[in-house]
Amino acid sequence: MNFTYLSLPIRVVFGAGSIRGLAAEVERLGARRVLLISTPGRAQMVRDLAQGLALAGVFDRAVMHTPLAMVEAAREEARKVNADCCVTVGGGSTIGFGKAIALSSSLPVVAVPTTYSGSEMTTIWGVSEGGAKKTGRDPKVLPRAVIYDPELTLGLPVAVSAASGMNAIAHCAEALYAHDGNPIISLMAEEGIRALASSLPSLVAQPRELRFRSKALYGSWLAGMTIATTSVALHHKLCHVLGGFGLPHAETHSIVLPHALRYNRDAAPEAMARIEKALNAPDAAKGLYDLEARLGIPMRLADIGMKEADLERAARIAVEAPYPNPRKVEYAPVLGLLRDAYEGRRPS
Ligand code: NAD
Repeated sequence: MNFTYLSLPIRVVFGAGSIRGLAAEVERLGARRVLLISTPGRAQMVRDLAQGLALAGVFDRAVMHTPLAMVEAAREEARKVNADCCVTVGGGSTIGFGKAIALSSSLPVVAVPTTYSGSEMTTIWGVSEGGAKKTGRDPKVLPRAVIYDPELTLGLPVAVSAASGMNAIAHCAEALYAHDGNPIISLMAEEGIRALASSLPSLVAQPRELRFRSKALYGSWLAGMTIATTSVALHHKLCHVLGGFGLPHAETHSIVLPHALRYNRDAAPEAMARIEKALNAPDAAKGLYDLEARLGIPMRLADIGMKEADLERAARIAVEAPYPNPRKVEYAPVLGLLRDAYEGRRPS
């Protein structure tokens, strides 16, 4: 056994009602002038949560894909109010703004995630400009503390929850066959898949049941840790490419994942066995496809805005500069994978 394991220094506070400790988490950092960040849709909820917080300002214009112009507006707001800390309350899009501010200012970030994206556990930042997204890793953007309060996720729409949960499963699945994986991350990945796969169908049926929300959020924390320190492979590469065609992030992940696993099936037998164990299913790709079907979310790239005419171009971009992947990344089979995902076929 040869491996390298990196442990990232994040304080995690988990549990129903844990948001009440937000002011204390900020105080632990010695911060006195918080810039609170949210999307316009969450603005009121976030202001309500900020009671008792040493608030210097609110930036409630976070949007998807962290566009540079809006990032600059957020950075300017942080400078204007002389913020010494950012608190983000929301999904990966909102956390992305906290990270973008931290990247240029080194301000500490406290993240309160309300989806299952896992971004709060990573050093990965992303800023888009002119249709292209620039990403990188920098320890500066890693939140100092993360508060996971499942009560804040009770209102997350069912379809968003399901797709976001599948996005988290994708992080775990690829960590299991990452070229730089390790046994600790594999434990987290398998447990993350188990927690998410066992909670998502119940959560879709009873979205306001705290037990299911807690388990899904726990799984998403594990998923975030897996993606934080291992490299992603073909699945994530395809999703990045498809994102460039304007497809929505979480839904793209959930549709592509079973097909990416089918692609890698014979090249990563140990990873497949662990996914199958976590899903309690005889085949990883089929098991995830069937899970997705139970969640009632889109199953075809055709249904989320992909054009058939763009499939070949997407396959070409994906094979141009591939990420390390268990099976060689080649044009014809990748195009076949994309066609299957486009049409929503059950993996063979
Ligand atoms: P998102 O943040 O865009 O949120 C999805 C939707 O859910 C939004 O409309 C939002 O307003 C709504 N929402 C969020 N919380 C809610 C709540 N509690 N109740 C009701 N509605 C709520 O989507 P996401 O999937 O969380 O994040 C996607 C983004 O995160 C992408 O840009 C992706 O690139 C990025 N991401 C980054 C990393 C990383 O490590 N840097 C990892 C994963 C994802």
